[in-house]
Amino acid sequence: MKYLFPPPAVPAVPIQNSDDFFPIHRIFCVGRNYEAHAKELGNVVDKESPFYFTKAASHYVPSGATVPYPPGTANYHHEIELVVAIGQSGFQIAEENALSHVFAYACGLDMTRRDLQAAMREKKLSWDIAKDFENAAVVSALAPASAIGHPRAGKIELKVNGDLRQASDIGLMIHSVPALIAHLSTLYHLQPGDLIFTGTPEGVGPVIAGDCIKGMIEGVGEIALNISAAES
Ligand code: MN
Repeated sequence: MKYLFPPPAVPAVPIQNSDDFFPIHRIFCVGRNYEAHAKELGNVVDKESPFYFTKAASHYVPSGATVPYPPGTANYHHEIELVVAIGQSGFQIAEENALSHVFAYACGLDMTRRDLQAAMREKKLSWDIAKDFENAAVVSALAPASAIGHPRAGKIELKVNGDLRQASDIGLMIHSVPALIAHLSTLYHLQPGDLIFTGTPEGVGPVIAGDCIKGMIEGVGEIALNISAAES
């Protein structure tokens, strides 16, 4: 096969203490997985079934990057999340076996154009332009489960310019990592390279040009993102 132009490079995430990179296949994101965050945005939690949206793999940006304030928004928000990296394929995975499909964990930032999300939600339209935009999927270096185990609880925190904005515990997730994998794998054949953003706790809020975001998840790692001026 001859391509019309060179195909884009496969986005890939570094792995802690390794020269290998994890090539991204798909990025799934879970909505409303912490009760206090659902409430702060005026939503009711559905404890029966999680809901999802997706981001293009090409919208990945590594931790430590500097990204321009995105176009089309005046309310660009941070959401820190535990990210699960799938290392083994599976379909209709039993919750008891779910963790065997996890290669690693990471910190993620589900960057959001909150004003567009609110407008789309109001019109009952897709969230794509609010969630799936350039540089909107920030992921830290992966911490392999072989090194850190499978964290069930632990501090999750985000600071903007040193001020604490989000502080919770990943043990407060409504749908656990095994439950999410089991449910998502009824809808998709999970494959190596799939990433799952597991939802953010309360305290989401805006960032502006010049801001520096720093986050951490206990036992997993740290993440950072710097915001520069909008492109003109
Ligand atoms: Mn989110």
